[in-house]
Amino acid sequence: MNAIKVHIKSFGCQMNKLDTNLVSASLTQAGFTLTESVKDANVVLINTCSVREHAEQRVISHLGHLKHIKQTMPDLIVGVIGCMAQRLGRELLEHQAVNIVCGPAQIPQISALIAEAIENNKKELAVTDNIRRPAPHQDTDALEKFESACAVTQKQSIPAQAFVRIMRGCNKFCTYCIVPYVRGPEVSRPPQAIIDQIKKLADAGTKQVTLLGQAVNSYQYNAGDKTYSLADILAKTAQIDGIEWIKFVTNYPSEKYFDEILKVMADSPKVCPYLHIPAQSGSDRILKAMNRQYTADWYLGLLERARQIVPQIAVAADFIVGFPGETDEDFNATVELVEKARYRNCFVFKYSPRPGTASEKKLEDTVPAETKQARNTRLLQVQEKISEDLNRDFLGKTVRVLVEGPSKKPHLNAAENDGNPQLAARTATDQIVVFNAQQNLTGRFAKVKITKTAPLTLFAQLTEPLE
Ligand code: SF4
Repeated sequence: MNAIKVHIKSFGCQMNKLDTNLVSASLTQAGFTLTESVKDANVVLINTCSVREHAEQRVISHLGHLKHIKQTMPDLIVGVIGCMAQRLGRELLEHQAVNIVCGPAQIPQISALIAEAIENNKKELAVTDNIRRPAPHQDTDALEKFESACAVTQKQSIPAQAFVRIMRGCNKFCTYCIVPYVRGPEVSRPPQAIIDQIKKLADAGTKQVTLLGQAVNSYQYNAGDKTYSLADILAKTAQIDGIEWIKFVTNYPSEKYFDEILKVMADSPKVCPYLHIPAQSGSDRILKAMNRQYTADWYLGLLERARQIVPQIAVAADFIVGFPGETDEDFNATVELVEKARYRNCFVFKYSPRPGTASEKKLEDTVPAETKQARNTRLLQVQEKISEDLNRDFLGKTVRVLVEGPSKKPHLNAAENDGNPQLAARTATDQIVVFNAQQNLTGRFAKVKITKTAPLTLFAQLTEPLE
């Protein structure tokens, strides 16, 4: 029999992109072939996200499309993996298009589930029954083996860069968030497994690693004689030859280990001076309703401390607008916080109730859609002005960038474009830089001089490729 061809479509966050890369690697190891085309595929896998309603709606509409395709391709196997699979379980399996439903903790079983679905021509369900109370070590050992086996052979989404998960799940229970219900409680991976994985990635040419966790600064691993924190993982990673840049996302505003983490950043040139630390709101009343364990003033004090320890640090954050009960006054407090925080960039999301979360169960979604939209637009405008000011400071400066590949859309006009291909790169502080180069420098570091700035992009000229 010819190799079974699998097409994978991925929705959602970096954690999901990493899962998609790992699943792709595991399927290749198991003898499946990956294909970019649905028409060419025997199996379509959709890696789903439940964090926002919009993401789930896109998956449902995609399943409708696949149901249609299955009329002409009746043998096509459709599998849904990821957070939505865990959240909806059997309900999703009842969808006409769906053959396999597999939660995030069950992805090591995906090859077997596909083989069984094909062979037995029956629907397959693999999710954790009680995600908040998984049996001791349930799935964790299998996930650890899967992660270690697939991480190094995974195809990187961006050349020379890799995501490395250092922990799974979340214990914070922000009232709007589905993650603790679909990814389970926090489990930190053993430090040696993480370091071994990064060493192998470095040997395979990886130059930048991004350490991932839902609240990555909560990482804590008790090895008996020592308790390891994110600060220890950063320090150990910085000792690995070949790894030049280390980033970590995303951080929950917390005292615990904060200074230690920032001190490693200050001491090691490899740890990028970039801190993504979502505030979510500037209103203490809303923060309390969100079950975020801090006030706006305390949060701003934390940023001040970060800037004292690492003066060149760039800070970024996420915000939710239109949380139940958010008044104009609450929203104005958020605007004020953004103005004071002087973020390098901000991501703004409109609140949508997620079934099963505390806010969905207890709070009415009171803010009208148009108000949410208006607040979203206004907050982005406030941030755009700040980003523009901060980016202007870069004019004329020479910065080191890691090149990600050809720029997706042409940014430079004819007068500025010398006819060479435009490349997109990022600074250590996560700014996008576009420049022209005769050679393909994808996956390499380069030094560029900033010649023009915009709120979201820096434009530059190559001064020297480094390596
Ligand atoms: S910290 Fe809060 S928002 Fe982030 S994953 Fe955990 S529960 Fe969700």
